[in-house]
Amino acid sequence: MADEVTTDFGREAETETTAQRERGRRDADTETDPEGGEVEDGNEFYRIHQTQLARTMEHVDLENHVELILSEPKNEIIVNFPVQMDDGDYRLFTGYRIQHNNIMGPYKGGIRYHHDVTLGEIKALASVMTYKCALLEIPFGGAKGGIRMVTDDHSGDELESITRRFTHDLGTNIGPEYDIPAPDMGTNGQTMVWMMDTYMNMHNQLSKNARRRIVTGKTIASGGSRGREKATGQGVVYCIQEWADERGVRLDGCEYILQGFGNVGSHTARILSRLGAVLVGVQDHTGSIMNRDGIYPRKLNEHVENNGGIAGYPEAESIDGDEFWGLDCDICIPAALELQVDEDVASSLDCDLVIEAANGPTTLEAEPVLADRDIEVIPDVVANAGGVVVSYFEWVQNKRSESWQLQEVDSRLHFMMKRAFHEMRAFAREHDVDNRTAAFAVALDRLNDVYTERGVFP
Ligand code: NAD
Repeated sequence: MADEVTTDFGREAETETTAQRERGRRDADTETDPEGGEVEDGNEFYRIHQTQLARTMEHVDLENHVELILSEPKNEIIVNFPVQMDDGDYRLFTGYRIQHNNIMGPYKGGIRYHHDVTLGEIKALASVMTYKCALLEIPFGGAKGGIRMVTDDHSGDELESITRRFTHDLGTNIGPEYDIPAPDMGTNGQTMVWMMDTYMNMHNQLSKNARRRIVTGKTIASGGSRGREKATGQGVVYCIQEWADERGVRLDGCEYILQGFGNVGSHTARILSRLGAVLVGVQDHTGSIMNRDGIYPRKLNEHVENNGGIAGYPEAESIDGDEFWGLDCDICIPAALELQVDEDVASSLDCDLVIEAANGPTTLEAEPVLADRDIEVIPDVVANAGGVVVSYFEWVQNKRSESWQLQEVDSRLHFMMKRAFHEMRAFAREHDVDNRTAAFAVALDRLNDVYTERGVFP
């Protein structure tokens, strides 16, 4: 590597750069919090992600200019917009869209509605998307967006107005061949349909229907793909099956704990129960529950739909958070927020595998603890990639005016998840590195090849 070009990855592994400290300060100082909650700058997750990448660089023969380009997002879009609430008052919301990289194809990534959304968090999530798409060989780049708000405090009408105004203010920063949003925490098929409808109506009426693929993760009635809603959970299960095959573990009777019972968590649980796996503990934002005889995901799902969370589920015992993480099981599935498995949680886990259904659930300090305790980690970049894979299928179906059967979606998804999983495992074995380093390395190799062939304009 040429010495004169300095990248942020290397330095961030050791310490924050002055520019990043400044940026961190600016983020923390200037972000408004219209919902009145406490604002964290989210740079911890960004720092962790950069450090993990820096570690990977030691195992990849990366051109220095590629490292430099990937060290920062290409575009950071921040919009502040007012929306009238049901009571007639106006509130100001801050929305983000971070476009990390598009060398492989249009920017692609979810939209998160959550009270902890920050610029730093969205930057890290956008960057993860670049590597996820490269690892899975999907012709998309990486992006992420979000609005910091307490979704439970808003009526359906207010959520619709917020979504439509956000989409309007993003304007031409998104597009069906340029940047394609999808659901993430706090958003769903309905949110995507509002985004699609707003975008379609903002632009030329003659080609209106060609713009349905401006978002993916839509409801099936409005142009979504069969299998998209469960896709992330389905992909998590395909990875678990590959891990189990490799280790000679039988999933029938296998016990697991699950944090998060939203889209990803609930679908993972429902699919796992069909394979005979037993859910012994669940945690969400309303509490933690356990039942050593097993919790039925379908029944729990009904309870969550009616009550907004798992608390009060009658067929399980309420426990505290520490007890939840310490439950004896085979597999732990974090499927909620980032930074949940810290050093303490890693020390108390009693399982063989942590599979990161959520993005970024494991802290840097937890990683060596898990490794010392021989607990394997399947990282987010492969584990939860099922969502973006089927989003890609949805985009292709919209483009070709096709509608694939579920079996076709699932079998294509299976093939791609399995391929990525084994490419990661092969690199890990060959280079004697952990799965996360291996997954990033395979992705970085691909990005490096494309940049090397295409060069940098002008
Ligand atoms: P969701 O909004 O549907 O569900 C989130 C779940 O997390 C809920 O059960 C909620 O109660 C729980 N939760 C929130 N705060 C919590 C806390 N403090 N403690 C414990 N639980 C808490 O979100 P989702 O779409 O299922 O996304 C979950 C994770 O999966 C996120 O990290 C997201 O980025 C990732 N992911 C989602 C998709 C997708 O297709 N939806 C794709 C890839 C990755």
